[in-house]
Amino acid sequence: MESQPELSEQAKKIKQLSEQFAKIEITADVSHLSQRERALLEKLIEAGKLCDAIFWKQSSHDAIAVRDSLIKLNTEEAKIFLEYVNINYGPYDVLNENVRFVGVGPEKRPPGGGFYPEDITKEEFENHIKNNPKDKEAFESQYSVIVRENGGLKAIPYHQYYPETEKLAKLLEEAAELADNPTLKNYLILRAKATRTDDYYESDMAWMDIENSNIDVIIGPIENYSDALYNYKTAYEAVVMVKDIEASKELEMFQKHIPDFQNNLPYDKKYIEPVKTEKEILQIVNVVYFGGDCQKGTKTIAAALPNDPRVHETKGGKKSMFKNMMEAKFKTIVVPIANEIIAPELRGYVDSKAFTSFVTLHEVSHTLGRGYVYGSKDLTVRKALKERYSAIEETKADILSMFNHQTLLKLGKLDEEYIKKAIVTYIAGLYRSLRFGTNSAHGQANLIQLNYLREKGAIIRNQDGTFSYDEKKFFDGVASLANLILTTQAQGDYNKAGEIIEKYGKVNDEIRSTVERLKNIPRDINTTYKF
Ligand SMILES: [Zn+2]
Repeated sequence: MESQPELSEQAKKIKQLSEQFAKIEITADVSHLSQRERALLEKLIEAGKLCDAIFWKQSSHDAIAVRDSLIKLNTEEAKIFLEYVNINYGPYDVLNENVRFVGVGPEKRPPGGGFYPEDITKEEFENHIKNNPKDKEAFESQYSVIVRENGGLKAIPYHQYYPETEKLAKLLEEAAELADNPTLKNYLILRAKATRTDDYYESDMAWMDIENSNIDVIIGPIENYSDALYNYKTAYEAVVMVKDIEASKELEMFQKHIPDFQNNLPYDKKYIEPVKTEKEILQIVNVVYFGGDCQKGTKTIAAALPNDPRVHETKGGKKSMFKNMMEAKFKTIVVPIANEIIAPELRGYVDSKAFTSFVTLHEVSHTLGRGYVYGSKDLTVRKALKERYSAIEETKADILSMFNHQTLLKLGKLDEEYIKKAIVTYIAGLYRSLRFGTNSAHGQANLIQLNYLREKGAIIRNQDGTFSYDEKKFFDGVASLANLILTTQAQGDYNKAGEIIEKYGKVNDEIRSTVERLKNIPRDINTTYKF
């Protein structure tokens, strides 16, 4: 037998980083789909893989070269690096400030990724526009790559720069031929056209019109976070989705009760407004494929699109919630957290359905409360609370999700047993999300809730460091935090928002030591897809 060579220190470290992403295969139930719908899914996945291929080029200049050289090397050590390169779509560590972890090149990911020359400066980009004002639009376009040519800069539209786009357009047209739903068919035809022209407006409008379809898809250049230089350039991604019938029924039940939720909000009745009739579509789906930008690093469990404000103004937005991704995170993260920090006699109540319903009701709860400050016709709560808005708004959605569980209990739509599951799962979930840290609005929102409910004695810490709750105090605590948050929003009270964040949005010794107990539990998931 050959002896295994000892792994280098760096390889050991990278192996640990990969293990922060629990490997899991995502499956989706497609038994309710017809033969043609399944064939359509296959086409969309094929198209999605091209988006993935394009994103490798966008992620960083040498992402593909590093990946392919590791594949070629094929040693034990190379395989370890390759796994983490695949999670990160390149040699830069997303969990650790984009520091390079393999190969030779810049120490940190160049902020412009593969969208600009690696060594470009903002000054060079801006000077070019100053000297060539007619280039401004093409350079700042969301759909162009900036390259060097003859010592100067040049913008090339995506559909010319990426040869994959023509094949992508063809696959979307083939998918359209398989679509029996006319609204989906129309969208796919227009999306193919957009892929060839980089004008996405018409197809984004058609995407909002998709109706009564079992299948939906997010595909093309979508988000602009990967361009950390200017946030201009959009990254290719694909999310192929199948509607979840059962969860959609529950969502309908929740949505039907929105007027009850709104009228029951626990704050001064004078602040209560009639329900806003926004043109927002909320849908619960299962993911059959994630590729490109959305597959890099931490996996999202929902997407709110499109980003084009012109589409929003006329058609509103669409929020898709990824049920099987949530379930995967539940299984690999929430359950292990509960097994570590929930009181043993309560662990049996940690429940997958309670987790996904909590998230669904969180989204529904974003629509509750006030959009505008009380007594003002044009000052939105968002504007009034400025940079403090996101943490306060996420706290609102979470705490109202719990509060509305109680409303549904009172209406006889949920039972006591289910409420118990919801509370226990919620407490474990707080620790899942506060691990995102105080830099994230979600992390901060979870700290605010935990610290507040601990202070009120609603959540109890036992001698062994596990957590329980006080049945009487729990919903009192939920109602009083909801009151505080809703009132702060209604009054547009920027100072109060600051006080709440300052007082409750902090990590204390108890939280620090509890998080320490969770250090071997994955942060996120590393997914493959099968249906
Ligand atoms: Zn939210």
